Amino acid sequence: MRAGPSQEDIRRHNLGALLRHVHLGGPISRAELTSRMGLNRSTIMALTSDLTAAGLVREELPRETGRAGRPSLVVRPESARVYVFAFDVGPDRLAVARVGLGGVILDRREVPRDRGRFKLDELAATLSGFARQMRRKTRADTVCVGAAAAVSGGVRKADGVVTFGPNLMDEEVPFGEELGRRLGLGLPVSVGNDANLAALAEHSRGVGVAVKDLIYLHGDVGIGGGIIAGGHLLGGHDGYGGEVGHMVVNPGGRACGCGSSGCLEAEVGERALLESAGRFGAQQGRDAVRAVVEAADRGDIVAQEGLKRVGEWLGLGVANLVNIFNPEMLIFGGMLREIYLGSAAQVRTQLTLHAMAPQRDRLRLRTSALGDAATLVGAAELAFAHVLSDPLEVLARANA
Ligand SMILES: [Zn+2]
Repeated sequence: MRAGPSQEDIRRHNLGALLRHVHLGGPISRAELTSRMGLNRSTIMALTSDLTAAGLVREELPRETGRAGRPSLVVRPESARVYVFAFDVGPDRLAVARVGLGGVILDRREVPRDRGRFKLDELAATLSGFARQMRRKTRADTVCVGAAAAVSGGVRKADGVVTFGPNLMDEEVPFGEELGRRLGLGLPVSVGNDANLAALAEHSRGVGVAVKDLIYLHGDVGIGGGIIAGGHLLGGHDGYGGEVGHMVVNPGGRACGCGSSGCLEAEVGERALLESAGRFGAQQGRDAVRAVVEAADRGDIVAQEGLKRVGEWLGLGVANLVNIFNPEMLIFGGMLREIYLGSAAQVRTQLTLHAMAPQRDRLRLRTSALGDAATLVGAAELAFAHVLSDPLEVLARANA
């Protein structure tokens, strides 16, 4: 005979669920929590008082109710007190943020970096240095409850080791372990693929809130993706799923950094666009991509042709994804935001030609709501995941 969940299991689950409502949805009344969580008033009261005592939320009288009778207390996250560190290691930049419960960015540093491989110890030293600077500015009663990093590379599910990243790293890198050691907070640093984390960010705080089936495409130097199906990120057996950039759209096409050719990334990535627009070599990065889209807008024929060609390959990739996953929404992020906006007609045409009508008809194509912050926001959510699964335990450990 198997025992059911204990009272303690139920309480832990409910505490996490309540905190999740407050963390993702912002201030909310007890009455609203009662109806959304389907629990009775006394249970909600007991849960909020536990979370208040732990310093994770506070309760306040609402400012204006406009209604007669006793107003329901509003539960707010303790954003200034409880925070995580979020790190973003992109091909062109390093970013660190201190993010409060509720998703508030309290402090942030960002530096451009040169492309190419980095040394693990240098990278970890730079990032932990920024975190230490931020920590020195915090009040004595603040508490760091987690840390996580987004990297443009493959992250092995079993141990969080970064195992590949043609644009960034090419060996097995125990990045989270090294960063955690340097931070010295006694907290593990979770590591995730940047496009996967950006997909989660758009799903929890961006354009894809309440959308259970979505695909997020992220353009940087390469193309990454995050596939959310039934509300869950598809990671695959080892955690490397969602590498949509290496879907072959043009057999025998342009050489790809992965060793194959004609991958979506090879046909749509930054280099492909700049070469197609006759601008490769002069400038690189997001500004160079924007310059092509702006030139096309102004009527530059070469830029227009380049953008069209890239848009056709992008549309073909999107059509394949739509046929396989039937997403409700497909989101273009990173530099794909600009590319999509400059080639929406080509993308639509390819969808009409190659996607099946039932999958295509109700599909919504959108651009990222979080923009360049998506990866950092996603890293913060990864760091908060532990807190939300067992709020009191995590806080007790962080305070110890
Ligand atoms: Zn490839």
